[in-house]
Amino acid sequence: MTWTPDRIETLKYLWQKGLSASNIAETLGGVSRNAVLGKIHRLELPKRKQKACMVKKKRAPKVSTYQKPLKPKQRIEEPVIDGTEKTILDIRDGECRCCVSGEGADMLMCAKPVAIGSPWCEYHQDKLTNTKMINERVKKERQAFREYLNKSRLERESHGV
Ligand SMILES: [Zn+2]
Repeated sequence: MTWTPDRIETLKYLWQKGLSASNIAETLGGVSRNAVLGKIHRLELPKRKQKACMVKKKRAPKVSTYQKPLKPKQRIEEPVIDGTEKTILDIRDGECRCCVSGEGADMLMCAKPVAIGSPWCEYHQDKLTNTKMINERVKKERQAFREYLNKSRLERESHGV
């Protein structure tokens, strides 16, 4: 195969268009990829940016995992009372301190793992974003603890401890 002016023009054109050397070789016919590369080198055709390449490798279609954020109420389900709740004395750091049932010393707290930087689980964090509500909850919690202390003191006294 000889590099006729026509073929050289085609080569230049295709190279400029961003076809790969093997694509060009295929298009021209009767010439190897290496021959094309050699000719490109000899013609001192400018190197191309990778981005300009028209013939892209086929990729698996990108499946979007992005989901439109829903409103917290829709997104976070209310934790069910399933017996994992804890009293004020059993509750540990990292467990949601939101009251789910009872009052005072009998109060049970959610005890689900807390959301980052919050004393509450994700659900209660969202629910209690209203400061007033948070204050009420905190008051309730303190009240519960006081009542518990009173109760246990009375019990100790009645047992003569
Ligand atoms: Zn909670």
